Amino acid sequence: MSRNAESTAFRSALEVIRAVEPRVADAIGAELTDQRESLKLIASENYASPATLLAMGNWFSDKYAEGTVGRRFYAGCQNVDTVEALAAEHARELFGAAHAYVQPHSGIDANLVAFWAVLADRVESPALKKAQVRQVNDLTEADWFALRRELGNQRMLGMSLDAGGHLTHGFRPNISGKMFDQRSYGTDPETGLIDYDRVAEAAREFKPLILVGGYSAYPRKVNFRILREIADSVGATFMVDMAHFAGLVAGKVFTGDFDPVPHAHIVTTTTHKSLRGPRGGMVLCQPELADQVDRGCPMVLGGPLPHVMAAKAVALAEARRPDFADYAQRIVDNSQALAEGLLRRGAKLVTGGTDNHLVLIDVSGYGLTGRQAEQALLDSGIVTNRNSVPQDPNGAWYTSGIRIGTPALTTRGLGTAEMDQTAELIHTVLTQTTAGANADGTPSKAKYTLDPALADKIARQATDLLAPHPLYPSVDLT
Ligand code: PLP
Repeated sequence: MSRNAESTAFRSALEVIRAVEPRVADAIGAELTDQRESLKLIASENYASPATLLAMGNWFSDKYAEGTVGRRFYAGCQNVDTVEALAAEHARELFGAAHAYVQPHSGIDANLVAFWAVLADRVESPALKKAQVRQVNDLTEADWFALRRELGNQRMLGMSLDAGGHLTHGFRPNISGKMFDQRSYGTDPETGLIDYDRVAEAAREFKPLILVGGYSAYPRKVNFRILREIADSVGATFMVDMAHFAGLVAGKVFTGDFDPVPHAHIVTTTTHKSLRGPRGGMVLCQPELADQVDRGCPMVLGGPLPHVMAAKAVALAEARRPDFADYAQRIVDNSQALAEGLLRRGAKLVTGGTDNHLVLIDVSGYGLTGRQAEQALLDSGIVTNRNSVPQDPNGAWYTSGIRIGTPALTTRGLGTAEMDQTAELIHTVLTQTTAGANADGTPSKAKYTLDPALADKIARQATDLLAPHPLYPSVDLT
């Protein structure tokens, strides 16, 4: 593909948009400039390829296609069938999965589809069988009432939020916490690692319908074979949310016990994090759950987004190429180099290091909250996000941690030497930032002081670090 073609495609698109609403065209252009200039260490973000981005901006967006491939509630879906079937085939081949459902609009949607597929399989289907009817509309009012109560009375065991679990794994502010009676497993207070014996104990006591594995802020590998054994021992369905590390599974960095696909009954993911696709979600599952999963729309989803499924097909095709495995390995090499650089300079890291794409810095070692550290780094051109650490005394808003990840910078081409320089920049900012005080003299969790001249200097150094690795080099909007 010629670079010129990509540049022309994006320039033309902006010209067409500018003719209708120039402020949108300007904002799109400004977003590219901002992304090019910042040292992006947000563990959940990446840069999708020009082909993936362009696959989303077209008339597929106009089409309704409720249903599944070849079985739609709308006429004229033959082209949507083509892209949905392609995306599902690439997903199955890439992950070695029996079944793939590529319609979820995001990670939270993928999790909802998975939860309801399991509830339908394990609670609704037996109730229908018992009542000797085919579908819920045929139940008597009394049986329907009883089934609804039963559906709302199920248990889920997942990783606690402050140990790195995700809000969608049964926490009260999310619908999953309102649907399920939830209990959490945490990590060992000394090592920060998952203690599988404690998980087994919690499962034995709580007897969940669903055991959830997966995380958004745990910097280590997870042994999914052991978690599956625990699930089996209590008759739970084992679900893994690999939203964060799907790229490492796709790139065969996580194999054997650490690859969730052969071990879990059902696996969910986003497509836009380490997998480097469009924003979206996906569900992979064992054959026995396939029919229920395919009912995601209309069970919890609206009509699929055919333009995003087209982009998923493109990104998954890219992830099947040999160079993606090399990319995935470089993500982890970079993450480990960043962790080592920080440790060498005296930083405190949750679990003392990393096996994956992310590093969690406990910034209490610098006398800061996560909020103060996040803002001071942002002032210095380094984009991260604050995150709870295990047993966090500062709660989920201020936090005591900074989560950093390498998928995006690795896509730009930065390597391990540059990760060491990045560690130096982060360490300098954090050591030079001081926590502020409230008007009444009490310590503030948000205020801080950082010399603006130093912040500017670090931001220039960050830009210099990025300069040899232009973002979207094929795209020239001038
Ligand atoms: N699951 C995990 C583990 C996540 O980290 C996230 C997002 O951060 C999600 C689900 C939700 O994904 P989305 O924002 O696409 O809904």
